[in-house]
Amino acid sequence: MISKIDHLGIAVHSIAEARVFYEQVLGLVCERIEEVPAQKVRTAFFAVGDTHIELLEPTAPDSPVARFLEKRGEGFHHIGYRSDRIDDELARAQSQGCRLINAEPVAGAGGKKIAFLHPGSTFGVLTEICEQEQP
Ligand code: ZN
Repeated sequence: MISKIDHLGIAVHSIAEARVFYEQVLGLVCERIEEVPAQKVRTAFFAVGDTHIELLEPTAPDSPVARFLEKRGEGFHHIGYRSDRIDDELARAQSQGCRLINAEPVAGAGGKKIAFLHPGSTFGVLTEICEQEQP
């Protein structure tokens, strides 16, 4: 079941430059910066109440986020929904004819299992489902 908005993803050229806005203007605290090799991005998470802002900076020219920045520029990139059973969400999406970018969950930041649904099937919003690994 999807229980909350886990985070909102924002594509930036440079976390070092963008974090100044989130820290100095909005007064948010950067909880961690983490590289996610599977997605070829560096991520920075800022807590906002019980959800997060995730800044995404590409670490390679062929990173999906690098291609996004080329086409669309900096800005809103994806919405991340928390689920306790990512496999069920993907199975339901598939059975409803939704196009999946990841048919199987992949490793995301913070030890999460994540998968993306294609914006062509989600009315234009790149949609991530994520499941926190149970300790
Ligand atoms: Zn995300």
